Amino acid sequence: METRDIVLVGGGHAHVHVMRALAGELPPGWRVTLVSPGRLTPYSGMLPGFIAGIYSLDDAHIDLEWLADETGTRFRQARAAGIDRDKRLLITDDGEKLPYDLLSLDVGITPALDAIPGAAEHGIAVKPIGDFVRKYDALLAAALRADGPRRIAVVGGGAGGVELLLSLHGRLARMAKGAGLAPARFSFALVTSGKLLATHNGRVQDAFRRDLAGKGIALHEDARVTAIEADGLRLGEGAFVAADAVLVTTQARAPDWFAATGLALDEKGFLAVGPTLQSLNDARIFAAGDCAALVETPREKAGVYAVRAGPPLAHNLIAVAGGKAPQPWHPQKRHLALISTGEKYAVASRGAFKAEGGWLWRLKDWIDRRWMDRYRKAGR
Ligand SMILES: Cc1cc2nc3c(=O)[nH]c(=O)nc-3n(C[C@H](O)[C@H](O)[C@H](O)COP(=O)(O)OP(=O)(O)OC[C@H]3O[C@@H](n4cnc5c(N)ncnc54)[C@H](O)[C@@H]3O)c2cc1C
Repeated sequence: METRDIVLVGGGHAHVHVMRALAGELPPGWRVTLVSPGRLTPYSGMLPGFIAGIYSLDDAHIDLEWLADETGTRFRQARAAGIDRDKRLLITDDGEKLPYDLLSLDVGITPALDAIPGAAEHGIAVKPIGDFVRKYDALLAAALRADGPRRIAVVGGGAGGVELLLSLHGRLARMAKGAGLAPARFSFALVTSGKLLATHNGRVQDAFRRDLAGKGIALHEDARVTAIEADGLRLGEGAFVAADAVLVTTQARAPDWFAATGLALDEKGFLAVGPTLQSLNDARIFAAGDCAALVETPREKAGVYAVRAGPPLAHNLIAVAGGKAPQPWHPQKRHLALISTGEKYAVASRGAFKAEGGWLWRLKDWIDRRWMDRYRKAGR
């Protein structure tokens, strides 16, 4: 029997579900391959808890090689670098050419530090999260050294930036205490070009303004960073925020290699897909998560939408492999966001709704662990 190939590129939030869902569901002769540069992929929902030191690396990551083995997926450790669409080959950075009948991309975003002068030299990119996790340990170790960074600034006032700063604040305060150092040795600043948590309601924004103020964290709203220098941030009006370490959560763009594929892209270079998650100009190619732009139903780039794209993507890959018509997906417009504060405490936000408490952190913990348990060895 002729072998037919589905190649999954990137072990992002949608593809971990696809690996599980495809197992045993494809017509005979189809095989599935995952191409990923790393064995571990982080789960964004547990990332703030990992940064805060509440979760271990294992808690917050999925072992893709194990999941591949478990689901009968071939695992190829490499980074995709191009697509030869005429010959239907995925090209990896080590020169391998993997044939595909159907291809699916869930590779996330790439940092765009060149958008702020000095950011590439002096800033630390937080996206993609997998790369940041590797830099994080070094940052923590340096912070505890006598000559290490003490003034920490985060650029970006979205949920990612706020959670990152509060998690880092909580972690360093606890580490300083453990090492017999005064927590006041560290200072923190959050700088955002618009309002804090601009896509959330005013009560959620105020809850976080209060939390930041209560922890002595400086907040600069409506402040555009014009340059990052060795000793701090220069703002639009000439103001300067002194900082030894600057974490940038704002700037991210589409992977460069998309441009040469000839696939339809949106104005920012992300893969333009229709409601079936198929490329607008190549029905054999699917995309989901941050790297895709749903042209009919645009949504923010958030892990929650990458997670939700998993089931419709899997459904459509199975349908097309079986010669059936794929189904359109209509992602929800709004979702309940549970934003953590660096301790076991969270604020819930949806439309005009706001609530907060330790119980919301426990709810988030339960949701996140339940999701992760589907993709990890039982009893780990
Ligand atoms: C600090 C921070 C906190 C956040 N918190 C939240 C949150 O609480 N809730 C939320 O919804 N969102 C959150 N986000 C956003 C969230 O991280 C992303 O939206 C989410 O990870 C996107 O998932 P994805 O599947 O598109 O890609 P990713 O999770 O980035 O996965 C992409 C995968 O593809 C791999 N890859 C990359 N390039 C290639 C290549 N060329 N070839 C093969 N593989 C490749 C990567 O190694 C990675 O494993 C946060 C982001 C940050 C920075």
